[in-house]
Order: sequence, then C-alpha cells, then structure tokens
Amino acid sequence: MSAPEAPADCIFCKIVAGEIPATVVHESETAVAFRDLNPQAPTHVLVIPRSHYENAAALAAAEPATVADLVAAATAVAEADGLDEQYRLVFNTGAAAGQTVFHAHLHVLGGRSMTWPPG
Ligand code: AMP
Repeated sequence: MSAPEAPADCIFCKIVAGEIPATVVHESETAVAFRDLNPQAPTHVLVIPRSHYENAAALAAAEPATVADLVAAATAVAEADGLDEQYRLVFNTGAAAGQTVFHAHLHVLGGRSMTWPPG
C-alpha cells in the first residue's frame, strides 16, 4: 500500500526531502530523527516516518512495521544521548492532545526528571 499524498506544505515531509534544515541525529530506510526546534527537555528528538501519515494510528494501520522502526530509532537516539534507559516516548494525536504538526512523529524526551500526568 502506498502512503497517502502529503499536503504540499508539510514541514516534516520537507525535512525528509532535505528541503529545510534540521539537526538530524539518526536515519534509517523508513525513519528520520532530528532535534526539536523548541526542546522541552535536554534531549528532545522527533522520530518521523519518511512516508506521510497524519498521525501514529494512520501509520500503524498502513505500515505497522514502520511503527516498530520508529521505536527502534528512538531507542538508538536515547542510547546515543546517554539517557540510560530513562526517557519518555510520546505520540500526540489530534489537536486536543497537543498535536500541531500533522505528519506522524514520535517525541523522545529525556535528560531530566518528569512528572505525571502530563499537562
Ligand atoms: P506536536 O505538537 O506533537 O505536533 O509536535 C510538533 C513538534 O514539532 C513541536 O515540538 C515543535 O517544536 C516541533 N517542530 C516544528 N517545526 C519544527 C522544525 N522545523 N524542526 C524541528 N522541530 C520542529
């Protein structure tokens, strides 16, 4: 199954295509990881699929193996940043949950203590 057509203005598709700069820390055949522009923790990396899906659920329905690839990439990023298996993975899904970019992305947050529940 091929990915749905991405909106022409998708900023994360542009990062995948190398059309806008990002601090890329990890790449695989299916995923790209780069530092968040507005970090909420000492490590704040976004791991995104190369193909465009609006959110994690749509990605999981169409390309379940790529979801596992995102988690594997997140693990590699956490290891490279020395997070010692102490980090948070987040998929914000929908505006009410805080999603602002509608290309699926996995937040990797670490390097400080965190509280629960999140805001
Ligand atoms: P979310 O609110 O879950 O949709 O997360 C979107 C994230 O993308 C936010 O944490 C933004 O700071 C981040 N972001 C937006 N544009 C860029 C960009 N060009 N490079 C890196 N991070 C970005």
